[in-house]
Amino acid sequence: MLTNPDCLLARVLLGKYCQNDKLLRVEALNTSSHGWRGILAGRDLLVEHLGKVIGNGSSTTIWGELWISTDHAMLPSSPVKEDESDLYVSDLILIGTGKWNLARIKKILPALAEEIMTLRPSLTGANDSYIWYPVASGSYSAKSGYAAASAAALQVVTQPAALASVNWKKYVWNVGYSPKLKLLTWKILHEALPMGVNLERRGVVHNSTCIHCGATETTEHLFLHCPFAVQVWNLIPLKIPFNSIHCASFYSVLEASTSWVCLPPTGYSENIFYWVVWSLWTTRNHFLFESRHISQLEVAIKALGGAKEWSAAQLDSDASNNNTKVPTLPLLPSMPEETTTCNTDAAWNPISREAGLGWILSNQDTSTLQRSQFQTHVQSAIAAEALAIRAALSHTIHLGVTKIWLRSDSLGLAKAIASITKPKNLHGGVKWACRFYRKSHTL
Ligand SMILES: [Zn+2]
Repeated sequence: MLTNPDCLLARVLLGKYCQNDKLLRVEALNTSSHGWRGILAGRDLLVEHLGKVIGNGSSTTIWGELWISTDHAMLPSSPVKEDESDLYVSDLILIGTGKWNLARIKKILPALAEEIMTLRPSLTGANDSYIWYPVASGSYSAKSGYAAASAAALQVVTQPAALASVNWKKYVWNVGYSPKLKLLTWKILHEALPMGVNLERRGVVHNSTCIHCGATETTEHLFLHCPFAVQVWNLIPLKIPFNSIHCASFYSVLEASTSWVCLPPTGYSENIFYWVVWSLWTTRNHFLFESRHISQLEVAIKALGGAKEWSAAQLDSDASNNNTKVPTLPLLPSMPEETTTCNTDAAWNPISREAGLGWILSNQDTSTLQRSQFQTHVQSAIAAEALAIRAALSHTIHLGVTKIWLRSDSLGLAKAIASITKPKNLHGGVKWACRFYRKSHTL
């Protein structure tokens, strides 16, 4: 809604709820729908880490928005004079040049002049854009939003000590079993399975008894101590028989199970623990919701059968992957006729933040042209590489070149140009370069 206000969803919602105020400021009304309240909750999270990158500066106010840094939130702190309170960033840019008006910046924001000079306004008048500070690309994603929300919540809710000692990678996520088993194990350890005491704790049920024996249904009871579970474990043919009744916790058995060995008649050589737990859990659910009774022997057979089926399927898919994988070499694009090759490079000094840019233009007549340029206030090495491309492209436009093949030794920049999302600190240089780059491929 913020970056694409013309899409249908944005037009409907903004028309309904934001007629009198902007999306970033609007409050929920008593009549607002549940859906809109949800959007506003997401908006509140967004606003905490939302900044702007300057294109032409005409939609960003100097004092009210976060635009001075592309990495973190930074507001100008100088005292505001009355006649300067409504200024836009475009008022700090020399009209039509895309360059900063240094004299004016030093007058209005003297303490931030150096910082501002490292930003590159657009040379072609591109609009200002929103950026999301937590990620390098500046584009919001559900994943980064979740991480930002979790980081905020972490200050309030701390994880139980018992969970902090769990080796999640080793015993849950990196085990070579079906994802359903990993998720089940994760839920068991977090006491998140919808069963007995877990449900009672949340006030969902008042009867937390085991369906097999009538005792209180806890994780340890259902999977280890219940007479039904004990009999199932006794039926699993392990080299050293497993006596579940004396095991104190689910996690301690999970750790110990990595050394278990299934006896050969089963035809299964991996850790059977996860499969038996899965089988016990589904058996409990079949009985509870479908009144289907499954015997201990059937539970054990189901666990072994599932395990064997899964490992056979993995072997099959490995084999078919090996057969179909044909190594391919990346193809270099062929160069159309009358194309000018443009090699660019840049050197950057991180202390003085100065950069030297260079480019060589050559065409098929083997005539070459070399140019170089010096720049101050350059933020990073990749920004210097982007500025070299921008300078080279300006030069080729001036020469009237219409077909160009750009070559840079900066893999990071090449990836940034080819990707949909650009690193936020390259906004001014790369956005312009990208537009030309795409154009040059269609000419
Ligand atoms: Zn029981």
